[in-house]
Amino acid sequence: MNLLALAVPFFLVSLLVEIFVDWRRGTGYYRSNDAINSISAGVLSTTTGYFSKFVEWLIWGLVLKNFAIFDMPLDWFDFSARGILLWVIAAVAWDFCYYWQHRFGHEISVFWASHSVHHQSEDYNLSTALRQSSTSFFYSWIFYLPLFLVGFPIEVLITVGAANLLYQFWVHTQHIGRLGLLDRIMVTPSNHRVHHAQNERYIDKNYGGIFVLWDRAFGTFAEEADEEPVVFGVRKPLSNWNPFWANIQVFDYLLFDARRTRLWRDKIGIWFHRTGWRPADVEVLYPKRHTDLASFEKFDPQLTLARRRYVLGQFFVVILSSMMIAEGYVTGGAQAVLTPCVLLWVQLYALGLLNGGQTHAINVELVRLFVITPLGVLVLQLVGFISPLTTFGWAVLGAYIFGSFLWLRKS
Ligand SMILES: [Zn+2]
Ligand SMILES: [Zn+2]
Repeated sequence: MNLLALAVPFFLVSLLVEIFVDWRRGTGYYRSNDAINSISAGVLSTTTGYFSKFVEWLIWGLVLKNFAIFDMPLDWFDFSARGILLWVIAAVAWDFCYYWQHRFGHEISVFWASHSVHHQSEDYNLSTALRQSSTSFFYSWIFYLPLFLVGFPIEVLITVGAANLLYQFWVHTQHIGRLGLLDRIMVTPSNHRVHHAQNERYIDKNYGGIFVLWDRAFGTFAEEADEEPVVFGVRKPLSNWNPFWANIQVFDYLLFDARRTRLWRDKIGIWFHRTGWRPADVEVLYPKRHTDLASFEKFDPQLTLARRRYVLGQFFVVILSSMMIAEGYVTGGAQAVLTPCVLLWVQLYALGLLNGGQTHAINVELVRLFVITPLGVLVLQLVGFISPLTTFGWAVLGAYIFGSFLWLRKS
């Protein structure tokens, strides 16, 4: 059961409701540039996932087939008391593994390089929940291997994994305050805000997915304190709205140090040390700038209203295209959606530059409109993803390209 695909309309409606509440209350928890960047990272993660998810499915399948200790047929997981109990055990066991996967994702440099994408937003709202990494496929599956060794069916584990991620959506909001006892048992908006903080006292806390009890058991729990409001984001700010760069930034920092340190032990070790650790020689030559939260300012490049509207308009095209691609993936698999995904990624890249007001953004957008889009459509026809365009189809495409061009010129 693909719970996450079914949840997309629910995500969109919830986001619109939160934006409306934010507007009515005048709380300012949403900025369109930050939200677009977060959702772009989510779209990138989903679409790159079409080409990377097979890694974990393959390994999990092989472990289950060859090394499972118990044989648990799928029909054990029915609506009987035993079936429900087994589902609960699988969900709790997954959440336990999630705790460790998430904790390592923060505390070991190379894993943090991947997971940091989820934390770069300096706002905190439901769009932050969609902000997911595109590179976590290289490590996250490792932490769930014990469940496959035990012998839980892959269908069950994929479902409880999706439910776990789905649960975490609602906790990304500032419109829900403290919830008393619940904040000490479950992952809630209050204790997950702490998890997204860059304040010293909140760093490396509250890793749980559904239950925060794991944090309390393993010493990583912290409550939201009235005297210290959460400052959201990461200590080395992204300062960029490019979703590709968001996925590369921390890998780039690590590579910088790995190339410059003299010892081979450090060149390799840096990737696996505790996050923040640096080789002594690079620390001396390239000292880190320490961030002062008292003077913290959110990254917020100013655009004209017309340009912001253009970005928003093209962003709706991204959302529509990603839904069509999701449909294409379900019916035709990864191979069928490669070309549309490339077109989408180019658009995400161009939008990121436009959103950040970068100087070459217009040129990139013009190349996308006049060269990459028509070429992409030709390839889509050649590979059979779409049927050959009729005159009307070409007219619609032309209207999109020239309409966008005129709008861009005016913005
Ligand atoms: Zn995290
Ligand atoms: Zn989160």
